[in-house]
Amino acid sequence: MKHYLKFITIFIVGLFLLGACGKGKTSEEDNGKVKVVTTYSIVYDIVKNIGGDLVEIHSLAPIGSNPHEYDPLPEDIKKTTDADAVFYNGLNLEAGNSWFDKLMETANKNGKDAPVFLMSKGVDVKYLTTKGQGEEDPHAWLDIRNGIKYAENARDGLIKVDPDNADIYKENAEKYIAKLQKLHDNAVTQFEEIPVEERVLVTSEGAFKYFSDAYGFTAEYIWEINQENQGTPQQITRIIDIIKKKQIKGLFVETSIDPRSMEAVSSETNVPIMGKVFTDSLAEPGEDGDTYISMMEWNIKTIKEGLLK
Ligand SMILES: [Zn+2]
Repeated sequence: MKHYLKFITIFIVGLFLLGACGKGKTSEEDNGKVKVVTTYSIVYDIVKNIGGDLVEIHSLAPIGSNPHEYDPLPEDIKKTTDADAVFYNGLNLEAGNSWFDKLMETANKNGKDAPVFLMSKGVDVKYLTTKGQGEEDPHAWLDIRNGIKYAENARDGLIKVDPDNADIYKENAEKYIAKLQKLHDNAVTQFEEIPVEERVLVTSEGAFKYFSDAYGFTAEYIWEINQENQGTPQQITRIIDIIKKKQIKGLFVETSIDPRSMEAVSSETNVPIMGKVFTDSLAEPGEDGDTYISMMEWNIKTIKEGLLK
């Protein structure tokens, strides 16, 4: 009888250990986190701030690249297929060669109820002027008030796919939005030090429409939106005329764009490039500009100092 009990005990302990091992293995495959895909680094960072440790994010267009164009890799297709939620900018950003629409189709995320969330929902849309087709300008995040809308949309999307943790997402969003509001108010104050007539921002791509509206600038550019035909001789001549006419003192170049066109404009006009600004990508982790807040702080400082020189 005693032996029998001992055997049963060993058997039960054995079962328990097996069970524990099995469980360990499953949690390696599924760690219980919400699997998220974002289209580029800025959306990544905003969603990360709301999702915190509850989410595991795979971001598509790499840091330093231009999300207008992207070729999804096999890994991206797999992660997108498996994702619980996808967050994208919209407003024509991920439109080059329809890469995002194609990816959603391949990954079976194009249904009406698919968990695909538009970060720019609710933004007061601005339109491209040179294309003449009423196309939307994607760069809404450069107005920090829109960054707040992005944070709200990230919060609402995460709550939809993971309602059990709604309170945590709401709390994270509240804290993050308070920081963004402070950053926006600070930007307004900082830029007031630049005389209004000197608040002209010249960049390669015309990414600063929303920014200009928010902070009282005029935005000039070599080309209006990243696509084919960037930096043509006509575009260069056009901006050189504007720089001379408006007596512009400083130019800026974006981190995610080949600087050669702006360098050519600078040497033609003898107007210096005052620094790099972040538009379509964050900086590499650990560098200035590696979060949405840090990239906007960098832009505010660089633009203010550059134009006050
Ligand atoms: Zn852009």
